Amino acid sequence: MKHFDIIIIGGGPIGIACGIEAKKNGLSYLIIEKGCLVNSLYHYPVNMQFFSSSELLELDKIPFISKENKPRRSEALEYYRRVVTTNELNINLFETVIEAQKDKEGVFHVKTSKDSYTAKDVIIATGFYDIPNPLNIPGEELPKVSHYYTDPHYYAGMNVVVVGASNSSVDAALECYRKGAKVTMVVRDSEISSHVKYWVKPDIENRIKEGSITALFNSNIKEITDNSVVINNNNKEITIKNDFVLALTGYRPNFVFLEQLGVSISNDENRTPTYNTETMETNVTNLYLAGVVCGGLNTHTWFIENSRIHAVTILTHIISKYRYCRF
Ligand SMILES: Cc1cc2nc3c(=O)[nH]c(=O)nc-3n(C[C@H](O)[C@H](O)[C@H](O)COP(=O)(O)OP(=O)(O)OC[C@H]3O[C@@H](n4cnc5c(N)ncnc54)[C@H](O)[C@@H]3O)c2cc1C
Repeated sequence: MKHFDIIIIGGGPIGIACGIEAKKNGLSYLIIEKGCLVNSLYHYPVNMQFFSSSELLELDKIPFISKENKPRRSEALEYYRRVVTTNELNINLFETVIEAQKDKEGVFHVKTSKDSYTAKDVIIATGFYDIPNPLNIPGEELPKVSHYYTDPHYYAGMNVVVVGASNSSVDAALECYRKGAKVTMVVRDSEISSHVKYWVKPDIENRIKEGSITALFNSNIKEITDNSVVINNNNKEITIKNDFVLALTGYRPNFVFLEQLGVSISNDENRTPTYNTETMETNVTNLYLAGVVCGGLNTHTWFIENSRIHAVTILTHIISKYRYCRF
């Protein structure tokens, strides 16, 4: 069985940042990623532009040069790939961590879809993009319904309902409209979210005002059928013609996985995982959380720009343990 000082679960930006810090500190480590490198970013919309400027997405002060101030998905893929290859990080791709359990000696046994490993410390950097928040309505399982949006061309000439009014929904609505789709936004609140990128918000508001995009505010989607959707609009039920539904209602961390690893989840409305904010260590000794997974259901708390620091915090704590005889 292969043994490492640290196993890092998740090869997103923050898992990579943890790998860099482990390497800089001379520790043996392995990053295990269930998909391709920066799997979540790879699955973002193809034309997506970050709300952060490129220097705020940099890891270990390695310069991130982008054409515009705020980089595009393709530039971020290029950047993080170069960071991994230049640093020769130890990373296994397309390998899923299934479970990690600690034995009586405090050693973690990590089982994956391909192998088994042992480690003194484990860092969970699994993000939140794998599990969409469900609508829980009839018809959600139809093939025309998707919780992920990638490319507008697919929807040209079709009746598309976009559920939600956050950045993802607004980007999807604008792009699909500009490629010839007839877009209806179904929005629970009475206006477009205040989190929407400041340079995009006027665009969507003006498209709604001029009638190019229909927005049904104070509305909930109630049922999806093969060729229509039923909407509760200001307490009145309406049915509209529909070909595709983009249910962009956000995502959530894999709580089952966290609990399986022994991490307690708080009972607050955000279901925040338990960790020490000064060390990032969870209630399980030597098990750490890093990146956006820390926010629980509140996926607006942590981003790349404010969670990349977790790597240094965790490695500082791990290194401090080596000063007092370990193993
Ligand atoms: C559309 C969108 C736009 C965003 N724009 C910005 C922005 O402009 N600026 C910013 O700072 N942040 C932004 N964010 C937030 C941030 O980019 C992401 O949440 C970021 O990916 C977080 O990095 P992470 O490493 O914590 O998690 P992730 O990038 O999600 O990485 C987690 C990784 O863990 C892997 N994984 C999960 N479970 C397992 C398992 N069991 N075994 C092995 N691997 C596993 C996943 O495949 C994934 O690759 C955006 C998010 C979205 C959705």
